[in-house]
Amino acid sequence: MSSDRPSVDRRTFLKAGAAGLGVAGVAAERAGAGEAAVSMPLKTEGTREVASVCPYCAVGCGQLVSVRDGQIVNIEGNPASPINEGTLCPKGAATYQLVVNPQRITRVRYRRPGGTAWEERPLDWAMDRIARLVKETRDATFREWWESTGPDGQPIRKRVNHTLAIASLGGATIDNEWNYLQAKLLRALGVVAIENQART
Ligand code: SF4
Repeated sequence: MSSDRPSVDRRTFLKAGAAGLGVAGVAAERAGAGEAAVSMPLKTEGTREVASVCPYCAVGCGQLVSVRDGQIVNIEGNPASPINEGTLCPKGAATYQLVVNPQRITRVRYRRPGGTAWEERPLDWAMDRIARLVKETRDATFREWWESTGPDGQPIRKRVNHTLAIASLGGATIDNEWNYLQAKLLRALGVVAIENQART
């Protein structure tokens, strides 16, 4: 069978291999002597390490948050944690990107009642609007007493202090501290329907 490739006999092949090994050996020797060694600084150099807990799920893996000048520069598994011993699942390993991410959404899209087009608004505007609507809804629907009739025909009157017109649905990336505050606030408002992926 014919071929266009140049033929290399066994002797030439071995010579070329030996020459390559020789070059690699010299480079390794120089690196060993410190001539060609290049060391990159660690991104965690000079940071303060803060022990924390992964915010994503109920496994509760320990994390180490590296902070420099008030800025988070790295988040990784905490080897001292008996739960995960330094490991993190892919979701937990991406926690740094949850905190430091130029693609974080900082504006909301709003479609006014009856409107057909989306309008961009700042987050602060959305927070104010949500707070106003929560207050208006609660004021209009809050019930101190629940009144009905029992099976024996007798009137029943119970103090309930609630509103059934507001519900809260949380996401899985809300951490324990946030969930605690959210549950406190909503129950203080009299909201009964509180649900979360990592239950509050
Ligand atoms: S690292 Fe993964 S398994 Fe561990 S708490 Fe976070 S999400 Fe859960």
